[in-house]
Amino acid sequence: MIAISAKIQYNSAMTVLEITQLSKRYGKLQALQELSLQVRQGNIYGLLGPNGSGKTTTLGIILGVIRASGGSYRWFDGQQPEHLARRRVGVLLETPNFYPYLSAVKNLEVVAAIKGLGRERIQTVLEQVNLWERRDTPFRTYSLGMRQRLAVAAALLSDPDILVLDEPTNGLDPQGIADMRQIIQAIGASGKTILLASHILDEVEKICTQVAVIKRGKLLAAGDIEDVLRAENRLLIGASDLAAVQRCLEQHPQVQRIQPQGALLEVIVDENLASEALNRFVFEQGLSLSHLQQQRKGLEATFLELTADDEHTA
Ligand code: ADP
Repeated sequence: MIAISAKIQYNSAMTVLEITQLSKRYGKLQALQELSLQVRQGNIYGLLGPNGSGKTTTLGIILGVIRASGGSYRWFDGQQPEHLARRRVGVLLETPNFYPYLSAVKNLEVVAAIKGLGRERIQTVLEQVNLWERRDTPFRTYSLGMRQRLAVAAALLSDPDILVLDEPTNGLDPQGIADMRQIIQAIGASGKTILLASHILDEVEKICTQVAVIKRGKLLAAGDIEDVLRAENRLLIGASDLAAVQRCLEQHPQVQRIQPQGALLEVIVDENLASEALNRFVFEQGLSLSHLQQQRKGLEATFLELTADDEHTA
């Protein structure tokens, strides 16, 4: 029940980021292929894909660092010009260079001065990343995990509406990974939207509320984590008269949900409903399908498939 009400809340919330058919070519390499996704307010959104799948390219484009070859993106429903909207975005792309001999507080004072921000949020953000106790210790004594957490604190200084993180646990030891995940979840729970790029299924599964799985710049699956995980009973259906097929399927008692997926319909059915039975049902109503595809067994299988594939081509 809790999950359902939470989902309704997410779905009615503002779209923080909308990416529409984004493409990027680097010379001959198609790094992104018509990628579309929506990040709604209050979600921890995972962009999941193996190395080289286009995650950093996507983040680079939406942050205005890389030029797209096609498609578009929009922050906060386009309420503000982009340069103003981007001020509401906190970014952690790689560990920034802090001054080794300065403390956490002094380093954040430098960041605040550079960004034209006040110092009043320094304590709050250091508490958020569990570094307040160590606020006066020089940066050079920090573990990698603490350095990374200080970078998160720096990204939070401007009190952004969304935090963008690229592989935030890269290189950390197990304790550092656990700390960072817990902090990200707490930031999410405090109401901030988070967009997190990661190649680690376990991480996305544990932290995120929504996920987009990408491979070689193409979207494989997207949605609420639990839906994508529970995808055994997901069918993709195509027909010349899609609307008629949709009306027909809506009558089937074992069809739970139907949503358009490009030129196809994504149909969520009860687990025990065979795709042949559905095909027959449609046929008996005088309609026919041009495409019927049972989707993989969810995030894990999708992800295993995509990484296995990459090993073949490596
Ligand atoms: P990820 O972040 O998922 O590891 P990237 O977005 O970094 O993926 O890279 C996507 C693809 O684009 C990869 O094949 C990568 O080698 C290629 N690529 C990334 N940046 C450049 C660039 N500046 N020039 C040429 N190819 C690039």
